[in-house]
Amino acid sequence: MKSSKVIIVGAGYGGLRAAELLARQTHLSILLIDKNPYHYMQTEVYGYIAGRFELSDIVIDLESFTRGLGDNVRFLQTTVTGINPQKRLVQTETESYKYDYAIIATGARTHFFPFIEGAREHTHGIKDLMRAFTFRQAFEERIMMRLQNKALKRAGDLQIAVAGAGLSGVEIAAEMAYSLKKLEKILSFSDKEITIYLIDAAPTVLPGMDPWLVETTQKRLETLGVQIKTNHPIRKIGDRTITFADNTELHFDFVIYTAGIKAADLIEKIDAPKNRLAQIIPDPWLRLPGNEQTFVIGDSAQITDKEGRPLPPTAQIAEKSAAYVAKTITQLENGAPITPLNTKSDGMFVALGGKYAAGILYNRIKTRGYTAWLLKKAITYIYRHGLDIRVNAGYAKRRCKTPSTI
Ligand SMILES: Cc1cc2nc3c(=O)[nH]c(=O)nc-3n(C[C@H](O)[C@H](O)[C@H](O)COP(=O)(O)OP(=O)(O)OC[C@H]3O[C@@H](n4cnc5c(N)ncnc54)[C@H](O)[C@@H]3O)c2cc1C
Repeated sequence: MKSSKVIIVGAGYGGLRAAELLARQTHLSILLIDKNPYHYMQTEVYGYIAGRFELSDIVIDLESFTRGLGDNVRFLQTTVTGINPQKRLVQTETESYKYDYAIIATGARTHFFPFIEGAREHTHGIKDLMRAFTFRQAFEERIMMRLQNKALKRAGDLQIAVAGAGLSGVEIAAEMAYSLKKLEKILSFSDKEITIYLIDAAPTVLPGMDPWLVETTQKRLETLGVQIKTNHPIRKIGDRTITFADNTELHFDFVIYTAGIKAADLIEKIDAPKNRLAQIIPDPWLRLPGNEQTFVIGDSAQITDKEGRPLPPTAQIAEKSAAYVAKTITQLENGAPITPLNTKSDGMFVALGGKYAAGILYNRIKTRGYTAWLLKKAITYIYRHGLDIRVNAGYAKRRCKTPSTI
């Protein structure tokens, strides 16, 4: 059988799943490209910035991972600067690579809305590991200073604002509030000295999500002492002050920005129909319209259910779309007929600080508290365990210096 070349651009949740499934087709030669040498588990970043998880809990090494997948897979760390679907070329900073099939899986980035002046300059984002790391460092430094100054009786108030009360903002606010509660007895003179604000222009937290989940989340956040400021559109973010649309102000020490996402930069350069999140609107087989061998998955694409309703950009949907494309490429290789994507969300779990979560499964089962936390943990554990098996195998190969065959 001819060896077709598949290039996967982006080693996030979608890219890794596609690589793993396609690696089983040993006649395929697979090149996985990412600008970073690691896979960043964004879904766990709330625990990392609050100091509960370590770096090793949220990253995996891509070189070891790909080696662990098999000899038909190779990893290349570089930034992809363009894709030419007509010529079937992936352009990197230094070279171009020809493909039979490409899977664009570059995810999304933080979208600093142009109507919020100063957002980019004065906030910490979390879509990028380096930004999350910088925040954690700055925060830990501040806590340390506070501890020192407390001895000198001049510790001031500490105000943390989370701009954006979607899934990521809620998880971060809850986990930080939980961690700070544990530190309170050591750091504060009174309860009011460390405050976390969760801000959104929408009327509720988790805008657009299931009303039960919204209510459960709201109650838990209140229990943790998070100050919820919904219906509060932000106009400007300055050095230490947020100005709202009604000109009221809020002083802060740190702002974490989780208010919006937009498809990755590379997507802007690809000539294809896009939605308001700059995601590509693919054909029903997740291909660039008019191009049969270039697929797009995960947060870079607008993925819809069978009624045509857009599904939320989540790791779950990124993985499902990857599995679908891997199957489609296998069918195309075997000359078998292909069918359009037919998928839906299986549910959603929200981590709400400590060993507490809330979630909805298959649109029917609602669960909260420790049980929900256990279920969420189990999902993460299964995902991580699968990756670790590959990483360990690949790491052992690297130590034996087995060369890659492609
Ligand atoms: C705080 C937070 C909590 C979340 N919680 C959940 C949750 O509980 N459940 C859930 O399902 N989802 C959750 N999500 C959403 C989830 O993380 C994303 O939907 C998911 O990461 C999308 O996967 P992806 O493969 O499309 O892209 P990503 O995982 O973002 O991966 C994209 C990859 O492409 C690479 N890349 C980008 N541009 C280039 C380029 N030009 N060249 C080379 N490489 C490039 C990046 O380095 C990255 O590795 C959360 C997100 C955040 C931020």
